[in-house]
Amino acid sequence: MAKATYSLLERAKGRLLTELRHDIRDERVLAAMASVPRAKFVSDDLRAFAYENRPLPIGHGQTISQPLIVAMMTEALELKGDEKVLELGTGSGYQAAILAELTARVVTVERIAPLAERAAAVLAELGYDNVQVHLTGDTLGWPEEAPYEGILVTAAAPDVAPGLVEQLAPEGRLVIPVGAHDVQELLLVTNSPDGLTTKRLGPCRFVPLVGAGGWSSAELGFPEL
Ligand code: SAH
Repeated sequence: MAKATYSLLERAKGRLLTELRHDIRDERVLAAMASVPRAKFVSDDLRAFAYENRPLPIGHGQTISQPLIVAMMTEALELKGDEKVLELGTGSGYQAAILAELTARVVTVERIAPLAERAAAVLAELGYDNVQVHLTGDTLGWPEEAPYEGILVTAAAPDVAPGLVEQLAPEGRLVIPVGAHDVQELLLVTNSPDGLTTKRLGPCRFVPLVGAGGWSSAELGFPEL
């Protein structure tokens, strides 16, 4: 990247971090947001906007989430560093990289093959060897590696699917946008011996979760993969 472009991006990143500090208290999360180069997870033509606090298109009708939402969801997991975390919806791989900065192992699943491939390549190029990217079909999440101390769903779901809760460790935390497929509320679901507790984190807008635990491609008018 040309030097001038680089310093412009660094300045934009500085401004973004100042903005995130208004809402995010966890210094570890802020440090992860500072160290992961979001510019690497978007296409060349969008690189100039990489550090604006907004979602950006990543192709195939999908988006890389807004940085504030990424930071909020990550903060809600309260990671200590030794957890295994599952992400549903790899997309660009950016959220997986933020998680990889903060915990031991990240398993992330995606249903669109070219996105999974590109995300895996960027994550490998950046040296994140604690992230596994898997292509999913009809299965919700990645039960093979369950249980997970943290689960992040970065696509909207109509409800909290029991099949996902089953993949959560005894004291695990699940962050998931739940609602209609155009607007949702971000929920934090915490597992405990007494059952599940749910906390509302605020309104949000994600692309829909497709398949088990989400909406069918036909309902959304998407072409079948
Ligand atoms: N976390 C991503 C953004 C996610 S966009 C990032 O940091 O860039 C939501 C993603 O979820 C899309 O890529 C979409 O293809 C994927 N998705 C939708 N339904 C899914 C499912 N059932 N399993 C896995 N991924 C799914």
